[in-house]
Amino acid sequence: MSSPRGTEDIGSTLAHLVKAMKTPTIGRVFEQLADTARDRGWSHEEYLAAVLERQVADREANGTALRIQTARFPAVKTLEDFNTDYQPTLRQDLLAHLETTTFIPKANNVILLGPPGVGKTHLATGLGIKACQAGHPVLFDTAAGWVNRLAEAHHRHGGLASEIKRLRRYRMLIIDELGYLPFDADAANLFFQLVAARYEQGSLLITSNLAFSRWGEIFADDTIAAAMIDRLVHHAEVLTLDGESYRTRARRELIEHNTTHRK
Ligand code: ADP
Ligand code: MG
Repeated sequence: MSSPRGTEDIGSTLAHLVKAMKTPTIGRVFEQLADTARDRGWSHEEYLAAVLERQVADREANGTALRIQTARFPAVKTLEDFNTDYQPTLRQDLLAHLETTTFIPKANNVILLGPPGVGKTHLATGLGIKACQAGHPVLFDTAAGWVNRLAEAHHRHGGLASEIKRLRRYRMLIIDELGYLPFDADAANLFFQLVAARYEQGSLLITSNLAFSRWGEIFADDTIAAAMIDRLVHHAEVLTLDGESYRTRARRELIEHNTTHRK
């Protein structure tokens, strides 16, 4: 099949092949890497590996960027930006374990509990970004947003079941701010169906300002709350954050700093 070709000939052949394979990075790097290969005396296999590695790295980076975009995080906040000094009681070992995202293929859940301002949304987003980087599709919304979405699906042709099925492609659903707004009976029922359908099928990451003992207040029904908690925590890591709101603390420290400097 192959025969020696002129360099011009091979250039246009490669351009054509790269286009057909939809591997634009290879098109960009093959010439420069060929020079490097000649300079350094790489084998054919080494050259091929170097070219493919660049293509795979670019594809993974593009995939991550796309997943982060489609996840609809309210803001891009990373775990690297999260200052654990402000959370002395936070279990670092557990956070380090969650960072590996190995809980996602196991369909395990994460529950973040704590008062407003302690970094629940920040941590949820940071873990979501780790998941995107590891190749898992993620979708973020508030609890109220999820209930609206489920209610719309419920009233639409096709209904709730098909919506829940569609959500299966997201390996982690983030449900932020559960407990800020109480649910009526319909909302509680829709939400329960989501939790029940995800049980052992796909990860949920839930943040709430209310301890489990108060979830009955969210759903106006202790039985449904207990059934929900039962399914959620069966395979879950629960992280509790506490302390003063990060916003309040930062503001207070700024004021203290200014007063001491004026003295
Ligand atoms: P919550 O969701 O618990 O109400 P947020 O995650 O919205 O709190 O945090 C409030 C603000 O403080 C955000 O801008 C967040 O990035 C920041 N923040 C909170 N905790 C930390 C922390 N430990 N390190 C860095 N930033 C933090
Ligand atoms: Mg929040």
